[in-house]
Amino acid sequence: MSLSTQFASSPSPTPPFHCVGCGACCKGRFIPLTLAEAQQWLKRGHEVAVLLEAFEVSTWPQAPQAYAYNVQRSAPVRCGEQTLQVTAILAGQAIPRCPNLGGDDRCGIYAERPLVCRIYPMEINPFIALRISDKECPPESWAAPATLATDRAEEREVLANIERSRQADRADAARKIALCQDLGLTTAAWKGNGLAIYFPLRDALLQAIERLPASASPRLGGDWQVRVVDTALRERLSGLPLAFDEGEPLNYLFHPVSA
Ligand code: SF4
Ligand code: SF4
Repeated sequence: MSLSTQFASSPSPTPPFHCVGCGACCKGRFIPLTLAEAQQWLKRGHEVAVLLEAFEVSTWPQAPQAYAYNVQRSAPVRCGEQTLQVTAILAGQAIPRCPNLGGDDRCGIYAERPLVCRIYPMEINPFIALRISDKECPPESWAAPATLATDRAEEREVLANIERSRQADRADAARKIALCQDLGLTTAAWKGNGLAIYFPLRDALLQAIERLPASASPRLGGDWQVRVVDTALRERLSGLPLAFDEGEPLNYLFHPVSA
């Protein structure tokens, strides 16, 4: 399939792609899940991590469309005297390999696999350009021939799944933050600086999801903190009345990311 039309921000046309079923994308990573998919993942007996990042309107770079996209998949919370947007990502743990991956490197839940597994290696975020060098897919997967009809049918399916994923991101955003508050997961890392990664107990997370009201939204209670591990960034943010988490992370892991 050729998905070049989807990626307005891609620097160059995307070459044809056909999954060769190598299973490389099912190993050594987190698998982002919708709230409903996370519930299913937990019910199958597998672990789900919670990744939190935060940002704030006055510090956002000059990219209003990207800002709007990220606001839609986040929810406002109170952090010190400041309102922050927090995004929660529920992610199946596929480290060192996905628990659904068989010994033959085939997906054991293929018909029910998460949206992100149906979309990979394409990008869900329209502001992230597809870079083949960042993907696990072997060279032959980017060069496999296909009939035009197959090509177009696959492209339509992937695009529909991308839209479903974005829709779920928007629909789940506030409920996921309410879920985090319920579980006491209330420190986020500054977006672009890192991710705060929590590993809640499987049963506790499943029960919290099951008791989460359909209309749940976060309390604006002021009990959130933010972690910033970058001296220059910390200096830039010092004028904001934020509650910084300065101590050792007690119940989460700070995973730095490059901006
Ligand atoms: S659910 Fe299936 S496709 Fe998705 S990572 Fe696991 S094994 Fe791979
Ligand atoms: S790494 Fe690429 S080619 Fe291999 S199974 Fe995943 S999507 Fe298919």
